[in-house]
Amino acid sequence: MKIRVYKKTGNLYDIEVLHPRATVQDYLDAVNEFIEKNTDPPCRGCDECCWERIPLTSIDVYNYLQQANLLQLDKRRPLLDFLEKYCYVYVEGGAVDISLGFTLEGACIFLNQQERICSAYACRSLVCQSFICLESTLRAQELRSELVNAGMDELVRQWLWQSRQAGRKPVAHEAHNPNPNLADYPANGFTDKTSYRQVLLADICSRKLWSKLYKP
Ligand code: SF4
Repeated sequence: MKIRVYKKTGNLYDIEVLHPRATVQDYLDAVNEFIEKNTDPPCRGCDECCWERIPLTSIDVYNYLQQANLLQLDKRRPLLDFLEKYCYVYVEGGAVDISLGFTLEGACIFLNQQERICSAYACRSLVCQSFICLESTLRAQELRSELVNAGMDELVRQWLWQSRQAGRKPVAHEAHNPNPNLADYPANGFTDKTSYRQVLLADICSRKLWSKLYKP
């Protein structure tokens, strides 16, 4: 076991990293196991978490792009087309936020509202997979947030780079004084990775967070 997810008290869960080479996939596996094995299941089987903003990482988008039967995309530039058709890109100055698209009522575009199930379950995003319907400790919140932020920064880097390569202005759904700069989005632990098995937590977490999480 490389990661331990456990109930600390009452409705509060916590996370410890037990191995220096634990990956994001180890984290997701541990979260899933916790959800499945908990005798008092934290998941209430509702669809409330599918009405929230769902920020995306570069690997989330890579996984969605593998689902050819789910999406209608321009094969020449699938990533840019996916971001335009299925996502919401928000730019304010140099800051960029990319999340899954939503319906007029505010539900995730992949939520089957009648059945209350995810139509993209096999490739659902990091945020969806790592959601536990319980309170969490600060370090568990920080881990989730640092992973998502690093993955989104890599996605923004790809968005800016591919737009430049295609000779187009990056397309945003909402922009306020947009001025995103490729130099502000350097390579990180997500760069060149196409699977969460390839991303080491130690490469993503800040030193401060790692010292709080890692218990050899
Ligand atoms: S991708 Fe699936 S699990 Fe995630 S918010 Fe959308 S419908 Fe819900």
